[in-house]
Order: sequence, then structure tokens, then C-alpha cells
Amino acid sequence: MGLYDEVEIEDMEWNEELEAFTYSCPCGDLFQISLKELAAGEDVARCPSCSLYVQVIYDQAAIAAKCREGGTNIEGKAPAIPVS
Ligand SMILES: [Zn+2]
Repeated sequence: MGLYDEVEIEDMEWNEELEAFTYSCPCGDLFQISLKELAAGEDVARCPSCSLYVQVIYDQAAIAAKCREGGTNIEGKAPAIPVS
């Protein structure tokens, strides 16, 4: 168990309820990483139900820029990246 995959942030989904980007885990749960973690440079999204995790590929500067762009505080609730 461990690293499951490498995922680009574009391929993850913003989950408003969890306030985190999510990606399907093979166990049926979701890998999760919050915007705050991303902005802090964290790049590992973990699944709360198993020991797998994915490495998130993203541009930290772009995330920070998006936060500023939207006038969204990183601590705030609104996602900085638009949901599809
Ligand atoms: Zn899992």
C-alpha cells in the first residue's frame, strides 16, 4: 500500500462539502486534499478509508494566483478554482 497514482489537479474534482479536491480511490472512498494544503505546497492527497494516496501534480504559484484572483482567502470557504 502507498502511492496509488499521480494525478493532475485538473483531473480532480472540487468537493464543496469536504472543501477539498477529490479523486476516486479504488476502495470506493475519495482521495482528498484541501486548497489550504495545496497553497501550502502539500502535494499528497490521502484517502481517509485506506492507506493509499496520490501525488497531486499542480503549479503552486497558479493555485496561489487563483486564490488572489478570486479574492478568496485560502482560509475561506469558496473554492478558488471554478467547479465544472
Ligand atoms: Zn481508499
